[in-house]
Amino acid sequence: MSTFKAPKGTYDLLPPDSATYLAVRDAIAAPLRNSGYGYVETPGFENVELFARGVGESTDIVTKEMYAFETKGGDRLALRPEGTASVLRAALEGSLHKAGNLPVKLWYSGSYYRYERPQKGRYRHFSQVGAEAIGAEDPALDAELIILADQAYRSLGLKEFRILLNSLGDKECRPVYRAALQDFLRGLDLDEDTRRRIDINPLRVLDDKRAEVQKQLVGAPMLRDYLCDACKEYHEQVRAILTAAGVAYEDDPKLVRGLDYYTRTTFEFVHDGLGSQSAVGGGGRYDGLSEMIGGPALPSVGWALGVDRTVLALEAEGITLDLPAATSVFAVPLGEEARRVLFAKVTELRRAGIAADFSYGGKGLKGAMKNANRSGARYTVVAGERDLAEGVVQLKDMESGEQEALAVDEVVTVLKGRLAE
Ligand code: AMP
Repeated sequence: MSTFKAPKGTYDLLPPDSATYLAVRDAIAAPLRNSGYGYVETPGFENVELFARGVGESTDIVTKEMYAFETKGGDRLALRPEGTASVLRAALEGSLHKAGNLPVKLWYSGSYYRYERPQKGRYRHFSQVGAEAIGAEDPALDAELIILADQAYRSLGLKEFRILLNSLGDKECRPVYRAALQDFLRGLDLDEDTRRRIDINPLRVLDDKRAEVQKQLVGAPMLRDYLCDACKEYHEQVRAILTAAGVAYEDDPKLVRGLDYYTRTTFEFVHDGLGSQSAVGGGGRYDGLSEMIGGPALPSVGWALGVDRTVLALEAEGITLDLPAATSVFAVPLGEEARRVLFAKVTELRRAGIAADFSYGGKGLKGAMKNANRSGARYTVVAGERDLAEGVVQLKDMESGEQEALAVDEVVTVLKGRLAE
């Protein structure tokens, strides 16, 4: 072991488990790629001001959790704590919204950083796959995103997740509600930190997990009673489209989520096998965000699903993904001539699209066969001097244990056929 360890709150993805992470990322991305979302990649850091404005000065993410730093050149940057602000910034900078093709639909996958208190399911470096649909106000678009996330989870075999749904209103009705909520909250017995929150972000108080706070929130005004007609109608449509698509959801009038920029539709995916860090993903509509970061009015909606927690959800449900073995054919040469011949065969197999690997390091038969077993390969090709003198190799079926001699020239054709069966 080296003297160094992965920093606190982080962990490495190593084979064989890393294959599951990759498969989860792929599974989440697949429905998006199939639905008109184009791939976007943005830098791992941005100007700190983008997040301060975009995510919100009053959020925990910005006030407590951001990795902000000054560069040698004096730039104030931050490692990205979430994806939406960066993706919208990139879409605006690239003028994608001006191409006359709204909504601009984008998906992304990458690392995010938050200085949080580490625990199971909560890390300082984590991974998300996300989607944003920029520049359209259409309840079908909100529903599409929820349906695609549901499809992604189901394609992984997950069953014990629930979709929580709420509407946060818009700039018409939310301020009225906010004031009513502030009035109510000011009458409660709360600590100083929470009282401060009443002024800057009262909706977040509803999200407080502490029992002594929750007890006092009984009877708090609910946003759904304050929604304006337009917001109500919009929300009803989102619900109706989800129902028509057979996607079950639960109305959760207290769902506010941690980011300031949400308007109207908000949703969260929670998994019941994960304990306290139960949110596997979340998102919503953010109609005001573009203007908040200096762009034109572009009503938008998006979500981000956590890859780490989705993997934990798989474990919680006892699901092992059915991943194809990374290697189909493993070559074991005995002697110099065999090395030359089999290495050429492996190269040929790979060029033919067959996953093949080779025993390196001049191992003996026993050690090499151990490697072959571990590789998960269905077939092993073994060749020694005597085989080559006869123009053959030994092909071993690792499943049945059967072995047969095969002409050197036929190796690739035969394996192609067998593996296609
Ligand atoms: P958020 O932007 O906070 O709504 O996060 C979206 C999703 O990212 C969450 O539902 C989690 O699955 C995942 N996530 C957020 N923060 C963390 C973290 N610190 N560690 C692991 N996953 C996280």
